[in-house]
Amino acid sequence: MTAQIIDGKQVAADMRAELKEEVARLKEKGIVPGLGVILVGEDPASQSYVRAKERACEDIGIYSDNNRLLSQTSQEELMALVEKMNKDPKINGILVQLPLPKGLNEAEVLLAIDPAKDVDGFHPVNVGKMVVGEKAFLPCTPHGVIQLLKRSGVTIEGAEVVIVGRSNIVGKPLANMLIQKKPNANATVTVCHTRTKDLAYHTKRADIVIAAAGRPNTVTADMIKEGVVVIDVGVNRVEDATKKRGYRLVGDVDFEAVKEKASFITPVPGGVGPMTITMLLYNTVESAKKAAGIEVE
Ligand code: NAP
Repeated sequence: MTAQIIDGKQVAADMRAELKEEVARLKEKGIVPGLGVILVGEDPASQSYVRAKERACEDIGIYSDNNRLLSQTSQEELMALVEKMNKDPKINGILVQLPLPKGLNEAEVLLAIDPAKDVDGFHPVNVGKMVVGEKAFLPCTPHGVIQLLKRSGVTIEGAEVVIVGRSNIVGKPLANMLIQKKPNANATVTVCHTRTKDLAYHTKRADIVIAAAGRPNTVTADMIKEGVVVIDVGVNRVEDATKKRGYRLVGDVDFEAVKEKASFITPVPGGVGPMTITMLLYNTVESAKKAAGIEVE
């Protein structure tokens, strides 16, 4: 069997087109969704993520309030900016790009964001609501994974899902979302990590394997059964002298070998990556609708 490739760029483009139409309809009612973006310091990777987020907002008509702060910014200045955005009615979502430079207290900043504007879904109030199955902003990468499965026609209900990785931004929230008694959930979930005794024992019996370990070749062809669905969240740089920049990006899955056994697989790049920003846009639009008293999903 050769797997069908799940084209994350296409799914993201389809969702962004839907969001663009929705933003246009909201603008007719005088509602303009707004995202407040805070980047502290000059980390090149963070700068490029933030630029991509701002461009994506512009593309679909979301107003973005972009703030670049020097790495010497104090905790007080940062907290004051978050507080200002909390009160600003033009801002429906607040994004503080992580990691913050050394010396700044990330947890305190994330806790200061109004949960009603926490479009990254990292505030403990939203995490708690997600766990108990209440409406909440869902964290963007795991929500993107579920959208990819749903829009590829993969049945999640009743599936044995094995997640490799238990971070607070991918593995744990994904597990919580997939066990909800709701559509596009109702899965039986196993979460694996570095203390898991026999990773292959778990991945071999999975209908859906989701790799979020941050290590190339964590999932190889001998570790999966025929027909499995494989979602690769990992993004890793491996040296490659044939590339101008000296490296290429790979996921956590041995793509070439695994695609010969799987029924569906996401590539890296071009799989989960494009969905993360898309779900941030989605959360910002949902937040604007909620603030305007429009019923949200
Ligand atoms: P993280 O915080 O480093 O967590 C990695 C998790 O994987 C940990 O729970 C770790 O276990 C587990 N793990 C690592 N090696 C393992 C192994 N050999 N066997 C079993 N479990 C293993 O990473 P993260 O933030 O969740 O990110 C994971 C990957 O996804 C990274 O490559 C990251 O770049 C990528 N990512 C992509 C997107 C996107 O938009 N595409 C977004 C977020 C993250 P322990 O807990 O025991 O240490």
